[in-house]
Amino acid sequence: MLDADFFRRWMTTSAALVDREADRLTDLDAAIGDADHGSNMRRGFTAVAKALGEAPPESPGEVLALAGRQLISTVGGASGPLYGTLLRRTGKALGDAPAVTEQELARALGEGVAAVAQLGGARAGDKTMLDALLPAAEALGKSFGAAREAADAGALATVPMLARKGRASYLGERSIGHQDPGATSAALLVTALADTARGTDGDAA
Ligand code: ADP
Ligand code: MG
Repeated sequence: MLDADFFRRWMTTSAALVDREADRLTDLDAAIGDADHGSNMRRGFTAVAKALGEAPPESPGEVLALAGRQLISTVGGASGPLYGTLLRRTGKALGDAPAVTEQELARALGEGVAAVAQLGGARAGDKTMLDALLPAAEALGKSFGAAREAADAGALATVPMLARKGRASYLGERSIGHQDPGATSAALLVTALADTARGTDGDAA
């Protein structure tokens, strides 16, 4: 079973990975956006880690709800409300159980990803975070490792795509040939999840 401490470690491992990869996320956003995705994610997840350290919630659902609220209130870019919605909706789907199964998490994440699609109006193939999140949520029904591989492959698959949502869509054809920053950060969060499940701290990723 996955308890509140597991979810807290998932979020703090995410914060560590985002911090380590922030420059890369910003470089990717410099190519097809406005060069702030790394700093947006770093600011957001630093606030998440701080809030969880100050008042650790007792259920998985509340850990994700608190993290989602922090992202919405601290990240100005498009990614803040989208990731905030992902975590809040996933947390809501988990309810207030003190621990959940991997299958319950997979189902809840599926609901969270659907909420991101609804909020942002993007679909698979539009070159957004969804291109990593959709296959990852699907593969989580099999295993954490499968989810990580699906997210990494999904992020890589955005390279040849034409952006249809977000700032990158303003570039039209010139968005082709670059990896989407949001799909890349989404893959980091799934890597953090798989690392947490393996009991490692993210630096081994
Ligand atoms: P901003 O675009 O406001 O500068 P960020 O740079 O933090 O925000 O985030 C950009 C990322 O957000 C993109 O790479 C993309 O993955 C994601 N994104 C943008 N718009 C959407 C959308 N409508 N649906 C899903 N993801 C989106
Ligand atoms: Mg940006």
